[in-house]
Amino acid sequence: MSSVWFRTWKSTPKIDCGLCGRPTCSSFSRAVLVGDLNVSACPVLGLAEFVNVRKELETSRARRMESRPRTAPDRPKGGVLYTRPCKDTDERLMAEFRVYNGIEPGEPVRFPEFDPGILCDMMECLHVPFEEVKCSRDLGYGRIKASEMSITVLQDGRVNMRRVASKDLVSEIFEKIERVIIGAVVCECCGCDLLSILAGCTIREVDPSHPVFDAGSSFSLEKDIARRPLTRGNLESAVGSPASMTMDMLDLLHDQLLWEIEQCMDGAPSQRSKEMDSDKARCIVADLMQSDACKGKETIVLKALSLLRTVLAGLDGIKDVAFMQSQLGEDEHRIVQSYIEQVMDGVLTEVMPDTDYSRVMLSYAHLNKVNNAVRLLNRWDHS
Ligand code: SF4
Repeated sequence: MSSVWFRTWKSTPKIDCGLCGRPTCSSFSRAVLVGDLNVSACPVLGLAEFVNVRKELETSRARRMESRPRTAPDRPKGGVLYTRPCKDTDERLMAEFRVYNGIEPGEPVRFPEFDPGILCDMMECLHVPFEEVKCSRDLGYGRIKASEMSITVLQDGRVNMRRVASKDLVSEIFEKIERVIIGAVVCECCGCDLLSILAGCTIREVDPSHPVFDAGSSFSLEKDIARRPLTRGNLESAVGSPASMTMDMLDLLHDQLLWEIEQCMDGAPSQRSKEMDSDKARCIVADLMQSDACKGKETIVLKALSLLRTVLAGLDGIKDVAFMQSQLGEDEHRIVQSYIEQVMDGVLTEVMPDTDYSRVMLSYAHLNKVNNAVRLLNRWDHS
């Protein structure tokens, strides 16, 4: 059975435009479920075609408000909950670790530990020495297999390992996994994931007072770096040449996004540029997170990952707008074209269209996502 968080996310427009003040529909649905936001905060849900979706969301919220929050468990040193001989073979170890999410033991926990979409995107980048990685977006947990070992990442932040050869290997594997999935940790104050907060697309500017900045059991995040804008120069000076693939990829994506916007502005969306494989792009940054060069520089590499996700979302957004253009009437087309021109410079108007014009409103929502990507890329270029 899928989790209540997943079911509620399914009752959202799934555009991730950020117009509700939350960066993604996933964080919006979490905030609605715990009562931090009203369903009406999403302007897209105000459109006539979403009336049933809106009702489903209201029902889920009413049910959820009746349940009691659990309390945060103890914070284990180095993340270790236990390490002991395996039940089936004494020569191997079983162990349990926990990815710390920044919530003090005993405090109420309102949200799940991980955003399931980001958790799975990132877990699927865990290659060597793992042979098989499976992750369920419905349930928000993942399984990994490597030779005799089996590892499970649970929704409450625990990482369970079986049949591991040595104590050192247990810690090494945990750190490797934690480095790759830490961006999926959800902040207790707002329900946003760490990556979205680092991208600066939330209602609050990148503010290290979010409890999620204390997350991490095998390493800590540098809070002062969180505030600084991510530029090519900053990343290069912090991480050096191991970051070159990430930097080149972000430059390529920048060019691709601008090209797609221009095509959309000319009304010629049929010719597509050579697209970058988004899974491959994510895994390049995930590999960097696991490298020695990243140690002590985690926050800036996570910022690069958050920029990458924002740009990939922007590329999806402009493609959706290009597709929708053919369905617009003459007046609607003119309005949307003026929005596209604004987006080219990252200055989309904050005055939203009337929800009576459904197709214009939907185009505007997608374009807001593109606008966020252009805004961040403009800073990135400013080395
Ligand atoms: S405003 Fe955008 S991000 Fe927020 S719930 Fe609506 S569609 Fe999703």
